[in-house]
Amino acid sequence: MQKVAIITGAGRGIGKAIAEHLVADNYLVAVADIDGVTAKYVSDRINALTPDSARYYVLDISEREAVFNLVDDVVSDFGRLDVFVNNAGIAYIDSIVDSQPDKVNRLLDVNLKGTFWGIQAAASQFIKQGDGGTIVNAASLASVEGSALQGAYSASKFAIRGLGQSAAKELAQYGITVNAYDPGIVLTPLRDYIDQKTAQIKKTTPDLQRKSVIDEIAFGRPASVDEIADLVLFLVSPKAKYITGQSILIDGGMRFH
Ligand code: NAD
Repeated sequence: MQKVAIITGAGRGIGKAIAEHLVADNYLVAVADIDGVTAKYVSDRINALTPDSARYYVLDISEREAVFNLVDDVVSDFGRLDVFVNNAGIAYIDSIVDSQPDKVNRLLDVNLKGTFWGIQAAASQFIKQGDGGTIVNAASLASVEGSALQGAYSASKFAIRGLGQSAAKELAQYGITVNAYDPGIVLTPLRDYIDQKTAQIKKTTPDLQRKSVIDEIAFGRPASVDEIADLVLFLVSPKAKYITGQSILIDGGMRFH
């Protein structure tokens, strides 16, 4: 029987790669995103190569009811759920002093609460099914060390790590694992925004800003989205069945612990 995975934020970037890799690994995937155009594009592209293996769903993960409806819809479309990847996230770059309340609230609503609702909805379904499940959350290098101008973003990612540890302890009794991936630098639209806004505040250029960050990487280059997807594939595979509550840095050698 084919396994079924939901990937939020799968309309582009890391989430799109995760969806494509899961399909290559014989999963059926729910491409979930706030942007219906990109979600449909990714789903169509997958189905063109591997017919009937993807469907797209449009939702804002900050809305708890929408996340629960997503799980219900996917179970009604595909019959069950095995994997939930809480990948969707947004960034907000500003100094602590200048951070705008509406932006901070939105970031926490999406990154932290959206992940909370995802864990809640997925775990409820897994418990109902009675045969385990796998939850994987997008944390970040920003979940182990705060960076200047990333206060709200870092706070949300530290929180996702804590939330994942609590969830892992509560859900192990049901055979559910909860882990996170912590990318360093991946060149996606989210990273473009970070470099542009950081450069603007630091009065440098986006290219120089990006170079200064890439210079910190031992491998001297950013991660590809495929490299992040490979880690997620491992975390959802039976090979990772004894790993839970962990948050795995995948940064090409930026921080060591
Ligand atoms: P991205 O901006 O390229 O893609 C994010 C996707 O999430 C988009 O398709 C967007 O439409 C969707 N999305 C945003 N808000 C949403 C919402 N409220 N509901 C549903 N979908 C929503 O970002 P990315 O770089 O692919 O990042 C994916 C995840 O990885 C994020 O959680 C991010 O914080 C994390 N991450 C990225 C990097 C990096 O360098 N790119 C580093 C560390 C962690």
